Amino acid sequence: MQELLQHPASFPVACGLLGAMLFVWRSYLLVGEGRRALELKRQEHESLFARHVDAVIAVDTSGTVERANAAVTELTGLRAVDLVGRPFMDLIAKPVRMKTAQALKTALDGRQNTIETEVPQPMGEIAEIELTSVPIVVNREVVGTFEILRDATERKKLERELENRALHDYLTRLPNRALFADRLKHALRRRRRDGDYVALLYVDLDRFKPINDRAGHAVGDEILREVSARLRTVVRDADTVARIGGDEFAVLLETVDSETQAITAAERIVALVRSPVTVDGEEHQVGASVGIAVSSPSTEDPEQLVHQADLAMYDAKRRGGFQYRLYSHELEQVGSDWSHRLETQLRRAVDRNELELEYQPIVESENCRIVGVEALVRWTHPEHGPLLPASFIPIAEESSLITELDRWVLDHGCREVRRLVEFGLVDEEFFLSANLSARHFEEPDFVNTVSDILLRTSFDPARLQLEITESSAGGDTDKVKRLKELGVKVAIDDFGTGFSSLSYLRDLDVDVLKVDKSFVFSLGADPASVAIVRTILTLAEMLNLEVIVEGIEDEKQLAQLEDLGGSLVQGYLFGRPVPGGALAGIISSGTIEPGSVPDPAPHGGLSLVDPPGGVPDPPRKWVSGA
Ligand code: C2E
Ligand code: MG
Ligand code: MG
Repeated sequence: MQELLQHPASFPVACGLLGAMLFVWRSYLLVGEGRRALELKRQEHESLFARHVDAVIAVDTSGTVERANAAVTELTGLRAVDLVGRPFMDLIAKPVRMKTAQALKTALDGRQNTIETEVPQPMGEIAEIELTSVPIVVNREVVGTFEILRDATERKKLERELENRALHDYLTRLPNRALFADRLKHALRRRRRDGDYVALLYVDLDRFKPINDRAGHAVGDEILREVSARLRTVVRDADTVARIGGDEFAVLLETVDSETQAITAAERIVALVRSPVTVDGEEHQVGASVGIAVSSPSTEDPEQLVHQADLAMYDAKRRGGFQYRLYSHELEQVGSDWSHRLETQLRRAVDRNELELEYQPIVESENCRIVGVEALVRWTHPEHGPLLPASFIPIAEESSLITELDRWVLDHGCREVRRLVEFGLVDEEFFLSANLSARHFEEPDFVNTVSDILLRTSFDPARLQLEITESSAGGDTDKVKRLKELGVKVAIDDFGTGFSSLSYLRDLDVDVLKVDKSFVFSLGADPASVAIVRTILTLAEMLNLEVIVEGIEDEKQLAQLEDLGGSLVQGYLFGRPVPGGALAGIISSGTIEPGSVPDPAPHGGLSLVDPPGGVPDPPRKWVSGA
């Protein structure tokens, strides 16, 4: 070697040799490093797999289990080692195997997907599972799938519970408006086929409101329960009695061979309701105004029948109540005059400065800090005085008027709250929450409208929260996304009152759930409500959503809510809605003690508008959208 190196011609050869040796050595080191890195990655991957809180099963292309993690045992009662080598489908309940196999196949085709399936449990019950199938791709080839199983039993239980609540009235346990609308639709379809008639009896109580105000809600509730029980005695099992609103009921007689049968039922209702109800030793008398509409062989539209029964009920009211009326064509004129007049007046209301906003504080339950306000529209009607939205929003929603109204609210609210910000009366997080009607949300240029108003009013989008209903949000997830891109927060209003699936919340990407006040009202009386509110709070936490619980009226409800974990709250306990002018005084201290804001007057001095003749609400539509 020495000689070789000394030879002049050999020097480059030696260098080459050395270089090659170094190269081999370095490569060797690199390969070693690569292997070690790979090994580390493998271990990382392995611990993710082994310790994942969800059950994860690796399945090969033939559907055989290759590996399973520890969480699988918790879910199925089977040890991971016992699963290896067995078909994955063995784990799945028989009735849903086809559907599950299809999900696996989709993943083998390279597409990740999530389905709901069922897995039998060791004790025989069935767990409802959310199954995500993820393709395992090696060298661009799908070599198997990861099956990720998540227990969805609790969520599904809540979904069913909510669905049940969404279809029933908690006070009387009767079907509610949505379920009634559905039954009516089906009854009409069936009857058209069979050739006989369906009768709809619309019942509105007389003198209920004064009793409820004077004797209190507990007595009012008892009367409503008693009336429900009496109504049920008038009908057959196949018929439906529903509670449609505060003191409004509807009765569906599935099969009548003539009007006479419907009239007999109405007579009995009038007589039964007028007989006094005794609560705590005291007698109370209410009455029933009943409107009857009977389908003809050509009646297809449930809305039409509702409209007719509604008009007939108004007629009974106008004549002093405690009686029934049968629909006749002449009644059309009265009803259309009424809503038409209100619509025309509402159109002019903006120009005439008759609209106003009231604001209700939204408060952090544990420290009473005011975090924002909800804007609620009021209309001071030239003849009827201040009106609640329930009197005119439905009329505005029947036409494009609602869009104008919502725009006015947004514009006005942004300006008023901006002034509070400019005066330094609120902190950085203080927000304005505004309601949006579903009809407005559906408009194609809706998001642009919002962004125009924000620009025009120089309002910080981060301070705006828009309240939409579950049905409108579910209908257009893209719009929710675009709103969020503007920097606006999106809340689901009246959460829990009208939908069937919770899984959509995950995809929807909203920020806030506003739990409907009906849950709070039933907190004391109904243990199911406690469970529901608790689950909603847990669910919201899991999905990283904020919660605002509406309708807190007393300390007891507040304490109960705090026991459940607390959240943001809104309700009469922290103050009824107040006009913009009074807001500064209330929020400037930053906090609000429960019960510290005096009630301005029952219902804030506002009323529902009565059409001529003392009828409580304007005729409305309620079959559509059910
Ligand atoms: P919402 O958005 O769920 O508003 C809450 C309603 O509950 C308000 O009634 C509020 O005054 C009432 N409330 C608040 N705390 C309590 C409480 O502790 N107990 C009770 N019993 N009620 C409480 P309001 O102002 O009559 O509004 C009714 C509905 O009208 C609103 O329900 C909303 O859906 C609609 N609305 C109100 N303002 C607007 C608006 O500017 N635009 C649109 N599109 N809809 C509006
Ligand atoms: Mg609202
Ligand atoms: Mg609400």
